[in-house]
Amino acid sequence: MFRAQQLYAQAARASAPLKIKDVKVIATSPARQRWVFIKVLTSEDGLYGLGSANCAYLCWAVKAALEKHMVPFWIGKEVDRIEDLWQANHVRSYWRNGPVTNVIQAALDSALWDIKGKRAGMPVYELLGGKARDAVPLYAHGSGNSAQACVESVQKHMAQGYRHVRIQMGGYGGGGFLPRGTGSRPENGYAGQAFDEELYVATISKLFLEIREKAGPEVKLLHDVHEHLTPTRALELAKRLEPANMFFVEDLLPPEQIDYFKQIRAQTTTPVAMGELFTHPHEWRPLISERLIDFIRCRVGMIGGITQAKKIAALCEQFGVRTAWQEGGENDPINQLIAYHVDLTIPSFGIQEDNRFPAIVHEMMPGAAQIRGGYLYGSEKPGLGIDLNEEIAARFPLIDDARVSDWTTVRGLDGSVVKP
Ligand code: MG
Repeated sequence: MFRAQQLYAQAARASAPLKIKDVKVIATSPARQRWVFIKVLTSEDGLYGLGSANCAYLCWAVKAALEKHMVPFWIGKEVDRIEDLWQANHVRSYWRNGPVTNVIQAALDSALWDIKGKRAGMPVYELLGGKARDAVPLYAHGSGNSAQACVESVQKHMAQGYRHVRIQMGGYGGGGFLPRGTGSRPENGYAGQAFDEELYVATISKLFLEIREKAGPEVKLLHDVHEHLTPTRALELAKRLEPANMFFVEDLLPPEQIDYFKQIRAQTTTPVAMGELFTHPHEWRPLISERLIDFIRCRVGMIGGITQAKKIAALCEQFGVRTAWQEGGENDPINQLIAYHVDLTIPSFGIQEDNRFPAIVHEMMPGAAQIRGGYLYGSEKPGLGIDLNEEIAARFPLIDDARVSDWTTVRGLDGSVVKP
């Protein structure tokens, strides 16, 4: 075929009306994860798109909502009308902006961008405007149970090429716990490790001053408070961290207390990142438009996918805020890639969170992004650039959420919950 004919055939293919023929819901638990993916099949034989509806702690509800409510609504719709379908999905359940509805929207959105990229013969980032950077820099997750161990963790990641390292003292809330059974407790009350915010502020501020002194001025240091502080203690921590010259301090406050960022902003030069738990525009909009934060931390899959993330990034660009999408923890390779394709194209990009997957996940999902030297690289294949081996996924059926304890439940000495 002549080149001109090839180009015409490709252009005609990219503009032919295509419908959603069927949607497979693929729920799988490789490496004990709880992932729900969709495969959107089109009226063109062999052309499909992939999406992730990752909401690990409500995965069975997501699966049922897809199968019983949303997939029947999608069948027969035109795959090219991504924005229109996003808007229609948004009001389909009438009540909206919750985690379950948002991840389902993101899943369809991702699959439709994947299909559009495959039709065009281009990676999705090309359809979003092309590369504004060569690769996506990541921040690494470092930790240690002592200042020295934290310094060594920073140095280890720097040696691998990372310029940005998030440091936690141990796990979730680490640095703020009184050990199990210690301290003044109510009779017959809670005996587990207890969070104390004054202890946390003292430990973490001292820790970072030491890390900065020993690791040197070059590394960009991050820390996640996991929303455990009350407003004035949050401000105090931010102020005490000023000499450590942080890249950012994340989630100083729970989402219910975002109005306090006005006071925090006015009194400290420590850069602030916020928004990991956000699902609603009323949460991120004032923080961005009033320039109360430096980095927005939403998870792309939890706010409705590429379509919504591009809009938030554009808003950030107008107000001098940068992105730092939350893509770690129980997140999956498809969600990592939707963030990646957005990151490549936006001037308001700040940094992306690191996430690594075991070999079985890479085997199940060929084309999953690769991390080299502190940067994330996609496969450069058309669409999202990833596939899903359904036979491998079927070997790991979705597991029940059988946790008897929950890492998100942190308690104080009197046994009350410390809200994240
Ligand atoms: Mg966080």
